Amino acid sequence: VKRSGRNGVRRFDAALDAELERTVLLTREFQSALTRDQLTLVYQPIYNLKTGELSKIEALVRWTHPEFGVISPSVFIPIAETSGQIMSVGRWVLEQACLQACRWREHHGWAGTVTVNVSPVQFAQPGFVDEVKQALLLSGLPAHKLELELTEGAVIHSPTLVQTALRGLQRLGVEIAIDDFGTGYSSLAYLRDLPIGCIKIDRSFTEDLASPRRAPQYAVALITAIVGIARTLDLQVVAEGVETHEQVEAVRGLGCDFAQGYFFARPLDAGRMDELLDPGQPE
Ligand code: C2E
Ligand code: CA
Ligand code: CA
Ligand code: CA
Repeated sequence: VKRSGRNGVRRFDAALDAELERTVLLTREFQSALTRDQLTLVYQPIYNLKTGELSKIEALVRWTHPEFGVISPSVFIPIAETSGQIMSVGRWVLEQACLQACRWREHHGWAGTVTVNVSPVQFAQPGFVDEVKQALLLSGLPAHKLELELTEGAVIHSPTLVQTALRGLQRLGVEIAIDDFGTGYSSLAYLRDLPIGCIKIDRSFTEDLASPRRAPQYAVALITAIVGIARTLDLQVVAEGVETHEQVEAVRGLGCDFAQGYFFARPLDAGRMDELLDPGQPE
């Protein structure tokens, strides 16, 4: 018994060690990811459910490591936040997304909005608004064609700093969306008090709409409630993670304005997005 117990402990330690080792390794490797051109952006379309227009495009970052292959942002963004590299990565993402949106405007006459995820760590920096301004100036993108996606946590922490930043962005004319809505804090006052224009309903709600395991009536009730709040406060609503035709019809029926998800398209590289924006156009 003793021996097997000890083995159990050792196995557990080994697993922890491996995990820690991996984090240390990835942290070290990520130091040079940006300078070695290992970061890229992919883009996912967001459609207007009433008109069918491709209204917005979300930029999502990818890290391709020469040995380990493609690493998910859910893995390396937390690493970048801890190491402080999120600042340079975030600035790079912002600039690239704005530049790409300008190319789409020029080449395809696309008049939509590019959306960029912003880490709470990045957002809490005093120089953030200036960085956004720089990215807009550098690219020539009109401010109202840029939307920043923030999580509820980012908006509720350190309220004064956040409020100052949000007002600064509002003055610039940049749009603000709340990402993963419904999964974070339950305070709703900030929706009324802060210059927010859009909420993105978290994928877990969309998922439940078609899940045979969980009761879809709860998801229906929650989405209906969220849409009701959004209507009252004059906010746009995006349903995230729509994977099936049934889910598209359901979120449309419940009053969501926009939808995004694998049903329409997976995140695409810039070349594939070009094709999507210009179907049937020979090169
Ligand atoms: P998010 O902002 O909620 O982005 C949506 C995630 O859901 C993306 O994962 C996207 O590929 C995925 N997705 C989209 N449609 C569907 C669907 O129909 N079904 C399913 N199962 N998934 C779908 P991704 O690209 O791996 O990004 C994960 C998270 O990493 C993002 O979640 C965001 O929080 C963060 N992230 C990505 N890019 C950036 C960035 O440039 N900066 C920061 N700070 N965070 C980023
Ligand atoms: Ca997002
Ligand atoms: Ca989200
Ligand atoms: Ca509004």
